[in-house]
Amino acid sequence: MTKYIIANWKMNMGKQEAIAFVTALGGISIPQEIMGVLCPSFPLLGALHLPPTIALGAQNCSSFGSGPYTGEVSASLLQEMGCAYVIVGHSERRTLLGETSLMVKEKACQVLDHGMTPILCIGEPLDIYDQGRTDVYLKEQLEESLPDRDFILAYEPVWSIGTGHTPRLEEIEAVHKFLHNVLKEKGFAHTPILYGGSVTGKNAREILVLPSVSGVLVGGASVSFDMFLTIIESAT
Ligand code: PEP
Repeated sequence: MTKYIIANWKMNMGKQEAIAFVTALGGISIPQEIMGVLCPSFPLLGALHLPPTIALGAQNCSSFGSGPYTGEVSASLLQEMGCAYVIVGHSERRTLLGETSLMVKEKACQVLDHGMTPILCIGEPLDIYDQGRTDVYLKEQLEESLPDRDFILAYEPVWSIGTGHTPRLEEIEAVHKFLHNVLKEKGFAHTPILYGGSVTGKNAREILVLPSVSGVLVGGASVSFDMFLTIIESAT
């Protein structure tokens, strides 16, 4: 089974650092069963020449096709720049920038209309987790964001992102199974479900071996080449 290792660099990495990272990436061999995806900031999309074993992804796109949307970036341009994947609905955009699930769904459809694969993020905040309402919350968020064609789902508990706290392994497995069943009911049983939230070189292997986990979405740890390499090695 393919294991996805997605690097979300967020608003980190300058041009020279990024080029040095990608040059180092070219020197390692990545097994065929691993799908590595690098998602840098928009201006770097045209500046990085990735090795053939790593796909290019973007961290966001506009929910509109084109037009007077200053500062936005269209899915068609991302496709022209060589992106194969686009992250949509990251919790930082939902919570800090007010993105709604409807906007996320529109973005995912733009991505699909331009021949790329959306990596759709969903995740519960801490109060919902503490109240034991994770399943209900995720089902609603997924249903409201759900595109009409194939995508990759990333389960990212908001309280885990960048905090060093992760759910217990049995909790990750239970949530992934629940999400798989929700997707199955809707005809998307084959959807890969990734885990994201404080994945590092230390915990990647134990998460990646979980049967319901098809890969990981990595933020903070993905800007360190050595850590990213360890995570890739953990998937084999
Ligand atoms: C993310 O932002 O998607 C993420 C998982 O971040 P981190 O790995 O830093 O928790």
